[in-house]
Amino acid sequence: MPGSVTLKAGPALATKHAAGASLSAVKHQAHECQRCDLYKYATQLVFGEGPDVAKLVLVGEQPGDKEDVAGRPFVGPAGTVLTECLREAGVERKDCYLTNAVKHFKYEQRGKRRLHSRPNAGEVQRCAWWLGAELEQIRPDVVVALGATAARTLLGAAVKVTRDRGRPIDIGRGFWLLVTIHPSYLLRIRDRETAARQRRDFVDDLKTAVKLQTRPG
Ligand code: SF4
Repeated sequence: MPGSVTLKAGPALATKHAAGASLSAVKHQAHECQRCDLYKYATQLVFGEGPDVAKLVLVGEQPGDKEDVAGRPFVGPAGTVLTECLREAGVERKDCYLTNAVKHFKYEQRGKRRLHSRPNAGEVQRCAWWLGAELEQIRPDVVVALGATAARTLLGAAVKVTRDRGRPIDIGRGFWLLVTIHPSYLLRIRDRETAARQRRDFVDDLKTAVKLQTRPG
């Protein structure tokens, strides 16, 4: 495809996972996971959510404070922005499968507040197994990496969100990959004009993903 990029598979796609299992069996196994220490501090594991057969999968970094409490991905402010932007791009959230690169919330306790803390390389590497297993079951046409952590989990350290965003990436796994920003970034921009422009660019990236919904051949 014109404008497409070739990159290597990251840890989530580097190995085969759960042949013969179902998505619900993978979810059940994930709830027992102790591959890293994050399960000790989070309220619960937040697995992916959406149809078992979805053409479009969106992958974030990790659950936030609200997701950790609710046990569902993208139910906080960033999830609201994502839902709106998906609709503007021509697809309903309920038709997509939404998940995260890391399934337990990592945070720093400051008084009563729990502040987001970025998962380290080891945590991302260990948790990538679950994302790979989800994708093997769902067999989507397009996987969108929202932000740097998801991008590196799917495409390794060579990927750069600023350089590679919005371009179809084929790594020979039967689906397109697309990298863009995480919607939480839009909530942190203070300048209104910049925020509006970045939001438009994000919707454009999602529109590209929607248009790509046929498998690379
Ligand atoms: S963050 Fe991932 S690897 Fe770590 S315990 Fe949770 S599910 Fe397992």
